Amino acid sequence: MLVPLLDLKAQYATIKAEVHAAIAEVMESQHFILGPKVEECEKAIAYYSGSSYAIGVSSGSDALLACLMAENIGPGDEVITTPYTFFATVGAIARLGATPVFVDIDPLTYNIDVSQISSKVTSRTRAIIPVHLYGQMADMEAVMAVAEKYGLVVIEDAAQAIGAEYKGRRAGSIGNYGCFSFFPSKNLGAAGDGGMVVTNDAQRAERLKCLRGHGSKPKYHHKIVGGNFRLDAIQAAIVSAKLPHLDKWTAARQRNAKMYDKLFSGAGVAMNASGSGHVGLPRVVMNRHIFNQYVIRVSRRDELQAALKKRGIGTEVYYPVPMHVQECFAYLGKKAGSFPESERAARETLALPIYPELSEAQLCYVVECVCDFFAAGASSNQTAPEAVGSQLKR
Ligand SMILES: *Cc1c(COP(=O)(O)O)cnc(C)c1O
Repeated sequence: MLVPLLDLKAQYATIKAEVHAAIAEVMESQHFILGPKVEECEKAIAYYSGSSYAIGVSSGSDALLACLMAENIGPGDEVITTPYTFFATVGAIARLGATPVFVDIDPLTYNIDVSQISSKVTSRTRAIIPVHLYGQMADMEAVMAVAEKYGLVVIEDAAQAIGAEYKGRRAGSIGNYGCFSFFPSKNLGAAGDGGMVVTNDAQRAERLKCLRGHGSKPKYHHKIVGGNFRLDAIQAAIVSAKLPHLDKWTAARQRNAKMYDKLFSGAGVAMNASGSGHVGLPRVVMNRHIFNQYVIRVSRRDELQAALKKRGIGTEVYYPVPMHVQECFAYLGKKAGSFPESERAARETLALPIYPELSEAQLCYVVECVCDFFAAGASSNQTAPEAVGSQLKR
């Protein structure tokens, strides 16, 4: 049996006609840059994410960059985020000459450890970028409390979390800005690059609209230096065509996650609070986890990944090298060991296939192969990963 990490063809087969019609409409109009299709998509995403305004941009990476630019963040400024994220979060800060300041993650959710944020705030701190990793939101109440206390801007990196909820509020709608990505492997993927910024602030929305078109307003009159951060009409039309299916796909991902949980627990390999068992299951701490990834925590992670590959199962390591130990950020002077939970997650976590179209037989096969691996290695003297359940904070 083959179980790829993600099978975009399976999803495409179910929506082919709608997607083709959306593309054809744009082709017939020959209106490729911004325009009515982008506006339609912006309206739909604003509504879906519970925000007042949405601004289509060229990617999730550019969404983050444009928000920081809109706040005039640059040299001398510090921006707090986590080192356990996709590169773009930190890259956006560094590209503007600002200084990324890292806060370690909560080992349970892999999101920023909110209890450590205050201690990193200085007179130069301008913003916090919480990342809603794998589809589960960071503890936004705590993030907003720190931001309000020190007058900081909050930019939610919701690239993996469209439709996720925290205490009934949607990802992207709580901070000053929310950033989404339509990269094809995200839960709502375009046929190429695309992204969106959402905000509840009319002035910030206006500024972003200006920034994404080289800061020009009116045309050829530039008040600020922006960039070409525009969303293509074809990508917008595809995203709009796919959006009505998103809740159904999310429900299927959640159902798959529950099934994994049940199968791992039933097989006796799931790690319990006292730390016995081989597989640390994802913990749903905040309300609505949309499972962009289903990530387990294991010992002998690389061996397990190789063993699964041999049996036809695709997996991925998100992310093997935390940002503070990336070569390009060596100038920040953060040594290995500075952020122990991020480094441990980088060593111990593995994403299993979770895409909506997976069959029950495929899920069972994945669990069977994971169990076989640990059964075969039962006599090895490798230690199990440290229990994280016993140090639950929530
Ligand atoms: C995908 C992703 C981004 C960047 O989005 P792109 O559209 O690929 O530029 C940023 N942050 C996180 C956490 C992501 O997963």
